[in-house]
Amino acid sequence: MDGLERSKWILRDASVFKSVEALRAAQAEHGASLGLVRPKEINRIYCKKRPDSDRKEWEEHRAEALSQKELYVDAETETKDLAFMPVQYRACFRCDDAACHTEHDVSILDWGIYALSRRQFAARGAALAERDVISKIEEMMDASKRQPYFFLGNTKPHPQSFMAVGLYYPPCSDGHSKKKGPEAATLKLPGFD
Ligand SMILES: [Zn+2]
Repeated sequence: MDGLERSKWILRDASVFKSVEALRAAQAEHGASLGLVRPKEINRIYCKKRPDSDRKEWEEHRAEALSQKELYVDAETETKDLAFMPVQYRACFRCDDAACHTEHDVSILDWGIYALSRRQFAARGAALAERDVISKIEEMMDASKRQPYFFLGNTKPHPQSFMAVGLYYPPCSDGHSKKKGPEAATLKLPGFD
């Protein structure tokens, strides 16, 4: 299956919503808890320091994510080693939908980003790691080169609040896609390759 075929398969299988607003409406109506949203524009990727009191929240998110692991954790992930990270990466974006009236600011809980962040923190220290990870996310989600989607998921305690449980960025279908670089190989959405 080539990249384009795989994209079609994923996009058929997972529900694509026009906007976060539409996903929230589907959540309220029939309990939708996962959906792909293609942003109209990503305004900012940034890093936020997490107080240690967030550790509990992280562990809850981790438990939640693991309960849906068939969707986005690859078989080799050593889930028991998922440690609390002192920073959280976030994205601010608008949806491509007239119903979108506000910028969304979501946390990114993507396993590829998590793994990259841990590696970079260990190898280069906090400041350089943060810069590297942010520029990697910006590159992956660059709409001039790819078709970026946020794979949004909620948690049981906060059903109307969505976070990015994955980043999905198939190549542009117009033939301008870049060849698959090392980042594409290592930062794929886990579980879909
Ligand atoms: Zn919106």
